[in-house]
Amino acid sequence: MLQFRDLKAQYNALKDEMDQAILDVVASSAYVMGPKVKEMEQAFADYVGVKHCIACNSGTDALLLALKAWDVKAGDAVFVPSFTFFASAEVVSMQGATPVFVDVDQDTFNMDVRDLLHKIERTVKLGKLKPKAIIAVDLFGLPADLKLIKQIAQRYGMYLLEDAAQGFGGRIGDQKACTFGDIAATSFFPAKPVGCYGDGGAVFTNNDEWANLMESYHLHGKGTDRYDNIRIGMNSRLDSLQAAILLVKLKAFRDYELEDVNRVAERYTQKLKGVVKTPEIPKGFYSSWAQYTIQLPSKEMRAKVQEALKAAGIPTAIYYPIPMHRQTAFALLDPNENQCPVADRLADIVLSLPIHPYLSEEDQDRICTLLTQTLHS
Ligand SMILES: *Cc1c(COP(=O)(O)O)cnc(C)c1O
Repeated sequence: MLQFRDLKAQYNALKDEMDQAILDVVASSAYVMGPKVKEMEQAFADYVGVKHCIACNSGTDALLLALKAWDVKAGDAVFVPSFTFFASAEVVSMQGATPVFVDVDQDTFNMDVRDLLHKIERTVKLGKLKPKAIIAVDLFGLPADLKLIKQIAQRYGMYLLEDAAQGFGGRIGDQKACTFGDIAATSFFPAKPVGCYGDGGAVFTNNDEWANLMESYHLHGKGTDRYDNIRIGMNSRLDSLQAAILLVKLKAFRDYELEDVNRVAERYTQKLKGVVKTPEIPKGFYSSWAQYTIQLPSKEMRAKVQEALKAAGIPTAIYYPIPMHRQTAFALLDPNENQCPVADRLADIVLSLPIHPYLSEEDQDRICTLLTQTLHS
């Protein structure tokens, strides 16, 4: 059975260094906070090129910390793409604010800037909610149109939160993902471009005030006196073990994994172009390929392809079968204000293929051949 994302192959490649890093933390007895977490935060801040990185317990918490720093609350509208993982929108409702769902571009899977403008204008006109922030998701590893979205956020006096849970390592020109938002959030869930061996996440910002607030919120709202807490916060720390694991992983990611996964993606596109609709990377953009997602002509054809690959021991996944504006948890939102027809269509026809830096050319060829045969049979 082929792996969808082969974390075991990665562990085998990093084994000596990884085992030592883990044992060192165990022997140090500094399990929570401690020097490894500081070292990891500095290394990740340096890698993306941002002043502050604060590690926390998950990507979801990272998004939540940003919204807390900005005091996003009831009465605020936050614009979120409908085609994403649930957490991107969940955090908005956790703060009591209202998500407004924005459609995506069929070629890039990322937020459609024209629909964003349309949804903002409608929200302003309806006058019930205050446009407060935009959450732009770097879906499948590809940065959203972040420079343009940032201009729109500024024009309307809104904050931009970059959900780079899947986008770590991507870039636009020379500027790396996690640096475009006023605050950016990433996830270290094992299957993400850089994952740890459990849950983890981080926020990034150049703003000292927000960094201070997020530092406090992720440690029970601590102030300067250790036992006087000055706000209601969370318990959202990254374990020292995970920090040590991430330091080993970041090195491999920077040295070869990111390039290798891009080679795998290019090879898929070469072999599958003209067979199915392959993902499009706009000029000047660079993806970290959290997923390689193709589009089939119909839902029936997708089921047929998925079945044929499964029978041959090749796992695939559907990211995402239900867009946010159709989620049961958001059923109370006004459907007229949250229409996203492209997200609806994508949910029926997308299929993500196995991708990771350690995928062999032989396995890749087997996948492509079978996929092509199935489509033509
Ligand atoms: C994975 C993911 C999250 C949440 O990250 P966790 O670490 O699982 O909490 C948020 N947004 C997107 C787009 C994701 O893919």
